[in-house]
Formats: sequence, C-alpha cells, structure tokens
Amino acid sequence: MKPKQITVTEPLLPPLEEFIPYLERVWESKWITNNGAFHKELEQALCDYLGVEYISLFTNGTLPLITALQALDIRGEVITTPFSFVATSHSIWWNGLRPVFVDIDEKTGNIDPDKIEAAITERTTAIMPVHVYGTPCDTERIQQIADKHGLKVIYDAAHAFGVERNGVSILKAGDISTLSFHATKTYTTVEGGALVCHSAEMKRKIDHLKNFGFENEVSVVAPGINSKMDEVRSAFGLLNLRYIDSAIEARHKIDTLYREALRDVEGLRMLDEKIFEGVRQNYSYFPVFVDAERFGRTRDELYFALKEENILARRYFYPLISNFDTYSALPSAAKENLPVANRMAEQVICLPMHHNLSEEDVCRIIDVIKRR
Ligand SMILES: *Cc1c(COP(=O)(O)O)cnc(C)c1O
Repeated sequence: MKPKQITVTEPLLPPLEEFIPYLERVWESKWITNNGAFHKELEQALCDYLGVEYISLFTNGTLPLITALQALDIRGEVITTPFSFVATSHSIWWNGLRPVFVDIDEKTGNIDPDKIEAAITERTTAIMPVHVYGTPCDTERIQQIADKHGLKVIYDAAHAFGVERNGVSILKAGDISTLSFHATKTYTTVEGGALVCHSAEMKRKIDHLKNFGFENEVSVVAPGINSKMDEVRSAFGLLNLRYIDSAIEARHKIDTLYREALRDVEGLRMLDEKIFEGVRQNYSYFPVFVDAERFGRTRDELYFALKEENILARRYFYPLISNFDTYSALPSAAKENLPVANRMAEQVICLPMHHNLSEEDVCRIIDVIKRR
C-alpha cells in the first residue's frame, strides 16, 4: 500500500459553515457580480490588510498584468525575468509587445539589477520584475534604473501577498503591482487576483478597463476587457482574510523545520536567510537547489524519489519561460544570455509547503531527501 499522499500545496479553505451566511446574503441581495457589496468590502479590507491605498479586484492574476500594461500605455519592449510562471511573459505577448529576458540573481532568483541596463534599447518602455517565491526584488535599484531611462515598472507580485520590507508593503514599489489569488497561492479566492496602484485616478482607469471601458451607462472611455470579480468569490476572500495570518504562521513553522533539518545536507542549497533581513515573509514556497555532483542525485532523481513515496514536489520554475517554444526564438532567450536562470531551473525543486502540512509529513519528506 502506498503511504498517504502529500501534495505540494493545499488551498486555504474557510470553514464551510461560516461561508453559508455569506452566500445567504448574496442570494438575498440578488446582486451577484458588478461591483457589489462584498466586492467593495473586500477591496477595502485588502487595502487595510496589505497597507496600500488603491486596490482593484480581478477575476484572476493574469488579467491585472495584461491590464497594467494597457493602463500605462506600454509599447515596444518590456524587460522581464524568465524565472517565473508563464503568465508573466504571456501578459506582455497578449499586448503585442516583446518580452526581453534578463538573467537572474543567484541569491534571490529575482531579476539581476546589474544586468538590466545592458538590455535597454530605444524601444524599451517598461520593466516587469517578479518577486519570485515572495522574495522582494531590489526595488530601489530597479527604480533608479527606471527613472534614469524613463521606464515604467510593473511588479508581478503574485507570490508576495502580505510581504513587507522594513514595515512597508512591497506592493508600494513601482507604478503597479499585481497579485494572484489562485487556489495554489497562499491567500486565495478560488480564482482571483488584484492590481495595486498609487492614485485614485489610476484606480478609476483600471476599474474602467476591467469593465469593458464603461465609465457610465452610456459612455465607453477605452477598449476594456471583462475581468471583474464576482460576489461569491469576493465573499470567499473576505472570509479567508480571517484565516490568512494563522495560515502564514503555520507555513513559518514548516519553513523552520525544513531549514533546521536541511542545513547540513551536502549539495542542497536553500535561499539564504540573510536576504530576508527586515522582511515580513509569507512562506509561499520552499525551494531548494540541488547540486547533483555534491548531493549524489540529480534534481529529477530526487523529484521521482519523492513521487515514489507519494510526495508531490514541484519543479518551479522549470522549464524556464525563455525555453518554451513561444519565446525560445527571441534573441534574449538564448541560453548564453541566461546562464544563472538556466542553472537554477535545472536545480530547483519546491518542497511541499502549506498550512495543513504536519510535522510528521515534514519528517517523511526529510527522510526521503536524506536517504542515500
Ligand atoms: C500564479 C501566477 C500568475 C497568474 O495568476 P493566475 O491567478 O493563475 O492567473 C502570474 N504570475 C505568477 C508569478 C504566478 O505565480
């Protein structure tokens, strides 16, 4: 008999009986979408929780990226990282723009600020970095470069819900940041997402763009799209906000267990805790990087050894976005241009990480990793 399955993640589900009264309110109101009461309430609650001024809810985490590029009127080329989920580059593609890949920093997995300037051409108009695994980018350096060259900055903050540096939300960096509330993310509304901006005027523009461009009943001010969040998921999100802190705390404990157990394993690298100084983390993922020669097994051998024990880890982010057919012909996608990203994509494995993982589960995982 196979041992109990351990999944890489598990959705944050509020107690069902607590959700019922919310649904009753939606049914009674007969207002199930289009900026209803729960939608408004969740936008305000998220502003308060995240410590930001303007949030616009979306139906998933990809449409706010696409809409951000629209709202800022981005043209030509957008500098981005290949070490992310495909939606980052896809949002650029969907706007008829060209992604330009820049290599990443070995220590964080984020875009390497030292390599951005060399990729800027006269067609460059924006930078789209990702706070990968929720680790903050070097936002100060990136802003300096953007200011010097007159570029906009859009952060894909899909992994960075609740992340702060020195007490300030990481979502305040750049012109716009976007979040994903997909079921696999730390905070979820089933499917869902949000866009964070820094002025009432921009928020108004975004709200028009996500609703076909309607300004009022008779006036359409832009060729908008439909990416509104509905009342049922807004309610789900409101209820889940009550549980997010304890979920993050549970993840923190798992993170500590992993770190202590894996500290001295030859050939396994974890993200260095030094990069989290002054950072309020959300412990979204637990990536480890396998140096096959020193570890004695390749990353894939470890991945399948875990699978054999019914432990489902994920090779996030492998393959690299730049190696997918859609993008691999771009000059910036060449492997020689992205040596660090290619290496990290070959080495990475994200261990199971979620609020319901038990200490016993973690021990089972560690046993398989340490087994020779
Ligand atoms: C999950 C994710 C997205 C897309 O979010 P969806 O809600 O699934 O559309 C975008 N970027 C990154 C880095 C992600 O991990």
